[in-house]
Amino acid sequence: MDKSKRKAVIAGNWKMNKTPKEAAALLDELAPLVRNANCGVVVCPPYVGLAVALEKTAGTGIGVGAQNVHFEKSGAFTGEIAAGMLAEMGLTHAIVGHSERRQYFGETDETVNKRAKAAVEAGLTAIVCVGENLTEREQGVTVDLVRLQTKIALLGFSAEEMQMVIIAYEPVWAIGTGRTATADQAEEVCAAIRAQLAELYGQDVADSVTIQYGGSMNAQNAEELLAKPNVDGGLIGGASLKPADFAAIVKAASR
Ligand code: PEP
Repeated sequence: MDKSKRKAVIAGNWKMNKTPKEAAALLDELAPLVRNANCGVVVCPPYVGLAVALEKTAGTGIGVGAQNVHFEKSGAFTGEIAAGMLAEMGLTHAIVGHSERRQYFGETDETVNKRAKAAVEAGLTAIVCVGENLTEREQGVTVDLVRLQTKIALLGFSAEEMQMVIIAYEPVWAIGTGRTATADQAEEVCAAIRAQLAELYGQDVADSVTIQYGGSMNAQNAEELLAKPNVDGGLIGGASLKPADFAAIVKAASR
């Protein structure tokens, strides 16, 4: 497997953590640590930290992403933020379909598809999250389920638009639990996602798409996970709040 056809990307999902002041301090610490990164580096603070994140990352090569986008361009959607608004600010990425959005905020495969489409149409790279819960893993349906989630999330996407899509495989049972998928488990599902992309868009496009693993990735296990042929990067929760740990993951992805 030739990984040179795609870019390794390490993205930090800060979730509902860090005030704008705390975000500024974290980025002041992080930016010099990832200066020599040989992979994409993205941080996704809460909405209120985006402006300061853009200010602090200017000229550093670190991208800034949102944790969600709405699919409509504007209108009566109290509390929501449109993709175009985020793109105009200067954001580069948006996470869509994170399992916490699916679990707590009624996100479905259909709305994930609409949000991903809106993000890409606005010029943002969509980090589309897919993954099984523990019951589904125990039932042995992980690969079928993740392939289906991927297929639905990408409905209506052209091969060209796939250059603006990252798929993040995040087993729900591994998120925030300290329980990581083994490198072999991560590889099996990331490979299945790539096979699904090949079925939809052909092998060339499939080989060019970045597929991340996410779920308790940390400074200790990143190297082994990232060494797998179909694991091209990571979506990092807890460890992204610790600059030294996040930088260690970036370093592992830069090799
Ligand atoms: C996440 O929230 O996307 C995530 C992977 O979290 P953690 O790294 O804390 O498991």
